[in-house]
Amino acid sequence: MADYGFFVNNFANNKQNIHNASAQKPPCYNTNSMSRPIPVEVVPSHVHLSEAHHQTLFGDGHMGAVRQELSQTGQFAYEETVEVVGENGESIVLRVLGPHRKATQIELTPTEARLLGIGAPIAKSGDLSGAKPCTLRTAHGSIDAEASVIIPKSHLHLSDTEASSLRLANGATVRMDVVGDVARVLENVVVRVHPTYRARLHIHPDIARDIWLHTGAHVRVRDIQT
Ligand SMILES: [Zn+2]
Repeated sequence: MADYGFFVNNFANNKQNIHNASAQKPPCYNTNSMSRPIPVEVVPSHVHLSEAHHQTLFGDGHMGAVRQELSQTGQFAYEETVEVVGENGESIVLRVLGPHRKATQIELTPTEARLLGIGAPIAKSGDLSGAKPCTLRTAHGSIDAEASVIIPKSHLHLSDTEASSLRLANGATVRMDVVGDVARVLENVVVRVHPTYRARLHIHPDIARDIWLHTGAHVRVRDIQT
């Protein structure tokens, strides 16, 4: 639960900053931010499967059906879903995203992790060093997915070109202003750079709910967080 406490503390800091920003800044302070408005996408909790786990859960040779292309090139949501079962026996059904990953990764909100009794760490996608186990179940089969569950950090996808124009390196941590009349600041956003990336801020649904931020809203990079 220590990792979840870290999130709570961070979020308390966010709230403090939101409060301070409201008190000290005029409503138009966003105009001095350093980037163009970047679209926000609230990313529902989901599962990435390794090829081996996909076969176990859906059958040998099963290809999966693409339900929907996602905003980042080559990423998509499958029609297939899996049941994620926590240590306390509680479960949630999540959609599988493709393509396959080297390692299976389950991305939950803090609320979901708590309900499933999983002390998942807040981590960058792909960093499973502190990830927690769960069971994945379908009508076809089940697996014990060791070191697979994380709470994804808020992250900003940028192309190489846009990242260099903003002088932001892959892995940098930034603060972002929400564009709008109410001053809101999002902290601890990790920058992810790739030639194919479209500029998008990805946040999980708990953050969206807590600061009332929705898909289609816009943010600007405020500054690099040290
Ligand atoms: Zn993302």
